[in-house]
Amino acid sequence: MPESLKNIIRDVPDFPKKGILFKDITTLLKDPVSFQRTVDLMSHRYVGKHVDVVVGIEARGFIVGAALAYKLGAGVILVRKPGKLPHKTHKASYKLEYGEDSLEIHQDAISPGQNVVIADDVLATGGTVSAVISLIEKMGGQITECAFLSELESLHGRNKIKDYPVFSLIKF
Ligand code: AMP
Repeated sequence: MPESLKNIIRDVPDFPKKGILFKDITTLLKDPVSFQRTVDLMSHRYVGKHVDVVVGIEARGFIVGAALAYKLGAGVILVRKPGKLPHKTHKASYKLEYGEDSLEIHQDAISPGQNVVIADDVLATGGTVSAVISLIEKMGGQITECAFLSELESLHGRNKIKDYPVFSLIKF
């Protein structure tokens, strides 16, 4: 694991609420060498894998996902919070610590059989990515892998993702 990349991610205690140790990737993104290395290391895994589209999860997943897609010559698909996408959408709900949240994707975003990589900045409990997986499955997309810049291993999010490979560049 690239220790220099691990060390450049900033820990922000008690954000957005008490008890959460927020992994702030803005310190990595603003450093040209670290950002380039991150994208190179992550995209390298999928070269030659015929990835058609990379699905980025709002909002930091857009940055990781778009950079990966560019490197792979793939398209970018946005998964967004409710009410943000302008055309017809599919919606998936998932549980939060308190209550529920949901995510949307355009109904015409993915064609059956397309090879998809899902991208986000942090894998925590795995609830978010599980909702995204259900959307992609509904549309007939073939999930190549779920790719994360970092993973909070103590939360065992990858145990929720039983049917697909999971990759994280940095493990906390
Ligand atoms: P989860 O659904 O629990 O796997 O949470 C993943 C989503 O929440 C990702 O989109 C992350 O950006 C965000 N997230 C969860 N926990 C953290 C954390 N400790 N630091 C930064 N982002 C987080």
